[in-house]
Amino acid sequence: MTSERTLERRREQLAGRLPEVGELIRGSVVERRMRCGKPSCRCQTDPDAAHGPYLLLMTTVGRGKTRTMVIPRDEARWVRGAVRRYRQLEELLESISETNWQLLKARADRGRVGR
Ligand SMILES: [Zn+2]
Repeated sequence: MTSERTLERRREQLAGRLPEVGELIRGSVVERRMRCGKPSCRCQTDPDAAHGPYLLLMTTVGRGKTRTMVIPRDEARWVRGAVRRYRQLEELLESISETNWQLLKARADRGRVGR
């Protein structure tokens, strides 16, 4: 079993890796070719004539709804980083929570044995 000291050290390490929390976005970046709205455009009938590829940011909002926006070219790098940082933060928080669960469990078990 993992010792409490080891768990505490793990928690410190995880907390030390938290990214800058202001610079993040929840969502996915996807590349997609699209049809425009013009009825006369070739893209309406010919799939090879679709425009793009465009870089899209997709985010779920509420139950089963998705919001999508075309990412401006000069924002692509920042958006990819922001999406990555969100996922890192999410994973780190989950790891910290799991570590704390184990830590609490270890203390609770020790308390029971000691009494
Ligand atoms: Zn078109």
